[in-house]
Amino acid sequence: MLIARTLAELRAGCTELRATRSALALVPTMGALHNGHRALVRAAAESGATVATSIFVNPLQFGASEDLSRYPRDEAADLATLRAAGCHLAWLPDVTAMYPPDDVTTIDVAGPAAMWEGTARPGHFRGVATVCAKLFGQVRPDRAYFGEKDWQQLQVVTRMVADLHLPLEIVGVPTVRESDGLALSSRNRFLDSDQRRLAPRLYMALMTAVETLAKGEPVDDALSAARQTIEAGGLAVEYLALVDGPTLQPLQTLHRPARLVVAAQLGSVRLIDNVAA
Ligand code: AMP
Repeated sequence: MLIARTLAELRAGCTELRATRSALALVPTMGALHNGHRALVRAAAESGATVATSIFVNPLQFGASEDLSRYPRDEAADLATLRAAGCHLAWLPDVTAMYPPDDVTTIDVAGPAAMWEGTARPGHFRGVATVCAKLFGQVRPDRAYFGEKDWQQLQVVTRMVADLHLPLEIVGVPTVRESDGLALSSRNRFLDSDQRRLAPRLYMALMTAVETLAKGEPVDDALSAARQTIEAGGLAVEYLALVDGPTLQPLQTLHRPARLVVAAQLGSVRLIDNVAA
């Protein structure tokens, strides 16, 4: 696996990968890699592409009160994970490579970025869209892989790529979960054992709501029951909604493709999840 830490090393590495004549796939990550990230790298490799993975904890997508400084970092373990998962190039830029001092351009996506995470974390999607546009320009991949775990992010990036006519395809990969349903996340390590026991309620409540909706029950009733289940476990619901899959607009009745999206606070840990409805 090639390792690039500067733009010059990245350019040389990408030239080498392109010489293989296979498609080039990019998996953007913030490191602290787990089986969810592995699934993205594997999906990219199994598509026949050569795979570049970026590891960059992007300051622009963290709010002032958020957990940038405590975001877990373990480069040696991440590189071992990437090698084992079939990654061909690891791109490990520093902050000045991504945001040089004379940098003045950011990207604001409206539409799917407006609500939910967009409201809860002002500026978050500006950070995501901007860093993704930079990574796409640096690596110039044919495809980029994103997890459905961050459903809204997947839709925001897909919208940006369409609107800016960027020459790549965005591929979504299903959420990888623990056996009890908890979606894998780098932040799960901050849950203590009691919180870890309660956290799968989020997914359980979503799945029960999916069943209720499929039986034709009113959306409001299904959402209130799910909210009660979640809050009975001591989680504080930030938002819980049935939305149109691509636009994230709230739905009062079930129209497919629909998604149930949720964010809840459990102690100091903010959990998000979503499922198809
Ligand atoms: P992050 O490092 O948290 O920025 O995530 C990098 C990529 O991995 C994003 O596209 C995430 O959606 C994806 N990802 C994170 N957790 C999971 C998961 N449990 N299952 C599938 N993809 C995931």
